[in-house]
Amino acid sequence: MKKVAVVTGGAGFLGSHLCDRLMSEGHEVVCIDNLLTGNLDNIAHLFGKDGFHFIRHDVTNYIHIPGNVDYVLHFASPASPIDYLELPIQTLKVGSLGTHKALGLAKDKQAVFLLASTSEVYGDPLIHPQQENYWGNVNPIGPRGVYDEAKRFAESMTMAYHRYHSVQTRIVRIFNTYGPRMRLKDGRALPAFISQALTGEDLTVFGDGNQTRSFCYVDDLVEGIYRLLLSGENYPVNIGNPEEITINQMAEEVIRFTGSSSKIIHLPLPEDDPKIRKPDITRAKNILGWSPKVDRETGVKKTIEYFRAGMGNLG
Ligand code: UDP
Repeated sequence: MKKVAVVTGGAGFLGSHLCDRLMSEGHEVVCIDNLLTGNLDNIAHLFGKDGFHFIRHDVTNYIHIPGNVDYVLHFASPASPIDYLELPIQTLKVGSLGTHKALGLAKDKQAVFLLASTSEVYGDPLIHPQQENYWGNVNPIGPRGVYDEAKRFAESMTMAYHRYHSVQTRIVRIFNTYGPRMRLKDGRALPAFISQALTGEDLTVFGDGNQTRSFCYVDDLVEGIYRLLLSGENYPVNIGNPEEITINQMAEEVIRFTGSSSKIIHLPLPEDDPKIRKPDITRAKNILGWSPKVDRETGVKKTIEYFRAGMGNLG
């Protein structure tokens, strides 16, 4: 009997890679997306494949899936700072009401539930690197608060369903991830830098560029998430690449890897932009036997090729 996995946000960047992985593991996949920030191009190759189903639906409303469900992976959410500014209410709703609906589905079907949480629950962190037992430093009323607080609420709701309803739950705290199928214009650093480098525009580094991030290639992330799904771990697990670099370095690398003649310019730093971020992945190593394998040069070059192939008309 095939296992049935429901992926909310399945037409998004991470959701679509998860659909691919679940299909390749021989599962039946029900992909749900309202296409607010997701894109059917990301899953076009799955249409018509045996065991793949797509439902266009906003998961802040009741989710009806006939039959058996083994896994519910809740990945629906706007996920870039520009999205939060443009879609603040939808971001809050999908993290709160959407998580409630997805948990209700998992409870009803006695399925394993996996929440896509985020390093944003740590906010602008005062502890470095971030361990899962750190409670975070989040501004609830800042522009990023709509995402951070929705995800913090989602974690609370997930633990409540675990404790009160005995749902088998997993929480992955996802750190900065990149790779093919990111939206070119989602405003995040890597797509912005790559599109700027490929079109010969200046790379827009916000602030002095000394803020740090740790970038994980999408294939590594998906491997970690799949292992977490199959584990028995109910408490949050960080998944990300602990190799930390400044945003200036990242911009310089993109210029080098694309062979671009673009220059770097500095623009104002957005409000509440975290100054440092790096996952402590001890728990992922110990519990899941997982650590990232793809080095940044390999991953960034693959991402550049993806964008280069898709943006001939912009060049
Ligand atoms: N950033 C930048 N230029 C851009 C987009 C982002 O310098 O065109 C910076 C941003 O201010 C942040 C870092 O790059 O310090 C990572 O931003 P991103 O939006 O990718 O992710 P997040 O802030 O959510 O980690």
